[in-house]
Amino acid sequence: MSRSAHPAGPRHADVLPEGHYTAPPADLNALDPKVWAETVTRDDQGVLTVGGIDVRRLAEEFGTPAYVLDETDFRSRARAWRTAFGQDADVFYAGKAFLSRAVVRWLHEEGLNLDVCSGGELATALSAGMPADRIAFHGNNKSVAEIRRAVEAGVGRIVLDSFQEIVRVAHIAQELGKRQRVQIRVTVGVEAHTHEFIATAHEDQKFGIPLAGGQAAEAVRRALRLDGIELIGIHSHIGSQIFDMSGFEVAAHRVVGLLKEIRDEHGVELPEIDLGGGLGIAYTSDDDPREPHEIAKALTEIVTRECESARLRTPRISVEPGRAVVGPTAFTLYEVGTIKPLDHLRTYVSVDGGMSDNIRTALYDAEYSVALVSRSSDAEPMLTRVVGKHCESGDIVVRDAFLPADLAPGDLVAVPATGAYCRSMASNYNHVLRPPVVAVRDGEARAIVRRETEEDLLRLDVG
Ligand SMILES: *Cc1c(COP(=O)(O)O)cnc(C)c1O
Repeated sequence: MSRSAHPAGPRHADVLPEGHYTAPPADLNALDPKVWAETVTRDDQGVLTVGGIDVRRLAEEFGTPAYVLDETDFRSRARAWRTAFGQDADVFYAGKAFLSRAVVRWLHEEGLNLDVCSGGELATALSAGMPADRIAFHGNNKSVAEIRRAVEAGVGRIVLDSFQEIVRVAHIAQELGKRQRVQIRVTVGVEAHTHEFIATAHEDQKFGIPLAGGQAAEAVRRALRLDGIELIGIHSHIGSQIFDMSGFEVAAHRVVGLLKEIRDEHGVELPEIDLGGGLGIAYTSDDDPREPHEIAKALTEIVTRECESARLRTPRISVEPGRAVVGPTAFTLYEVGTIKPLDHLRTYVSVDGGMSDNIRTALYDAEYSVALVSRSSDAEPMLTRVVGKHCESGDIVVRDAFLPADLAPGDLVAVPATGAYCRSMASNYNHVLRPPVVAVRDGEARAIVRRETEEDLLRLDVG
């Protein structure tokens, strides 16, 4: 690894610029288990290992940047969700967080169901052998072809998101001689405590049918009249990266209110209620997520209590965690390329990826942490901004982070908690090739999604 000198910069500035950081951490080599995957540790030399494998070996074998996914951690999180909710509830993993055939097989083995929201996600799920009846199909504008394919495959449920779709799905199912199980997605007027761009349940948004003004009740009326569909429940998804359970409490109260109205008007007690996903994870040490068993207990109690007071049988509950299953299981491994100290500001550390492999910082102002992982260091902390290699000044991976002042080009750094919405939102901006996803387990590493090549890029360019 090369070590080139660079001019002394604001190593440990007395006056720090504005940012989202507090004080530098006491020990830059410490790994907070909240943000790192289960099997991550440092070896005797201070090198980070995962599943027993040295990250320098991973960088050599698979190159950088790379998403490194701890399969042991993925499976134990999936199992924790499954166990927490038990046999009377269903856990649907939200495939949009990260989907590959290996992931589909792990989910299948661990007893989870799967949410998809496009033909591509459906194809991935089916090709890896997920039984169709364990798949739910979502989306606010599913194409006729996608609906047909889902109904033909026999998906367990389609979540209806508009008045047009109620009729569309019913007609397609009838044409195919089937009766499709469906839920209706409603918006309950709850705004989850999270960043504005990723909150989804207030009513001024594209998803769902509002409870307010009786629209959802009208959707139910129409759905119950159609032969091609069987209405099995009501669906609500209130947002993302939620820590506070009170949003779910209000949502459950309002959804159960609708179930009661349906019972009173139609004499039908719908058997299922889906409370969606959106459970938060720790991106930095400041975040304190709840454990799946606490979430399961809270949600089950809320729904049971609401149903008792409405004198309804408690419906079967389902949840749809995406981020909370896969997010903490992976980190992105980068190599440091250039280091630029700016006097009285901070030091810009450029890595070999950026907004093409992690758009969340630019898109949502998301916060991440970062660590030097190819060695440990006793140097002073320096305030840095970790940036990518793209032609865009908003190309920021970690806005404010402390790294050791002896950081040098060739060092490997890793950004933890990048398992969700990083590879799945990755782009080819600047014709940068998308990184591989390397799964590590018990001393073995394999690419479950390989690195993109220039041939891959040029194959699509048929002009
Ligand atoms: C995005 C989404 C999820 C998963 O959200 P996470 O924040 O990853 O848990 C679940 N259900 C629906 C309907 C979604 O749109």
